[in-house]
Amino acid sequence: MIKSYPEIISKTFDDLKLVLKKNKADKQIIKIKDKLIGEDFIYILGPCAIENKEMYENTAKFLIKHNIGFIRGGAHKLRTTPYTYEGLGNKGLDIIKEISDKYKLVSFSEVPGEDEIDIMKDKVDVLVVGARNMQNVSMLKKLGKVKNPIMLKRSPGATIMELLASAEFILNEGNPNVILCERGIRTFETHNRYTLDLAGAIALKNITKLPVIIDPSHAAGRRELILPLARSIKASGVDGIMVEMHENPEKAQSDKMQAIDFKEAERMVSDCEKIKLY
Ligand code: PEP
Ligand code: MN
Repeated sequence: MIKSYPEIISKTFDDLKLVLKKNKADKQIIKIKDKLIGEDFIYILGPCAIENKEMYENTAKFLIKHNIGFIRGGAHKLRTTPYTYEGLGNKGLDIIKEISDKYKLVSFSEVPGEDEIDIMKDKVDVLVVGARNMQNVSMLKKLGKVKNPIMLKRSPGATIMELLASAEFILNEGNPNVILCERGIRTFETHNRYTLDLAGAIALKNITKLPVIIDPSHAAGRRELILPLARSIKASGVDGIMVEMHENPEKAQSDKMQAIDFKEAERMVSDCEKIKLY
């Protein structure tokens, strides 16, 4: 019996009932504020970490000027070593709430752990599960019970079917609004920070009804790769791109090597908009 589209899904995962397409046209469109995710190609731009209100508000003004409806920015930053900037914490959440309401933008910010879900659900529109938490099952189950859409980032060590299996935990608890994000995987290649799995993201689009977004910033780790990768991402037919942008990348407190400035972001959006798929 054919349970899903396409017919050939690894046997290990053929019990995923909720995330797989039922037919070729099956897609989950997510409505948040007055905006849609899963329909037109979207841009989610903003700093890695929110450093102060002014820089986040300047980001919001830039987005409004360019008719972009989605802002990213971490309040609680999960870092790779204990000695780097960890964000503004709850003060950052208040900044997100104030500015995203004022400019009617959809905000994305990472939930560092289960304990922060309750405070974050009323302050942030889309709760992001970072790569480090992709298989934190108790957190995924708790996120299945909130009303917010969830962005689930792929762990650099996970297959695309493992990513889908993690998403299934959220849907299985009753939250259908999950956005998947490819952000680079670990391979033998060390020239770039990670390896962007563009083919994996396209394959995901074929098998899941959930929107797929690509984050080239963490995959590449270097700003000069962002523009060409963004053009490839737009041409690939996924649902959008999430990019780290900072008004002064050299001064960024986290991930400064990969942040693009406002001018580069303007160019990126204008180049991507010229690429028409059909
Ligand atoms: C981020 O988006 O700033 C981030 C930490 O990403 P990831 O969880 O993919 O490493
Ligand atoms: Mn970052």
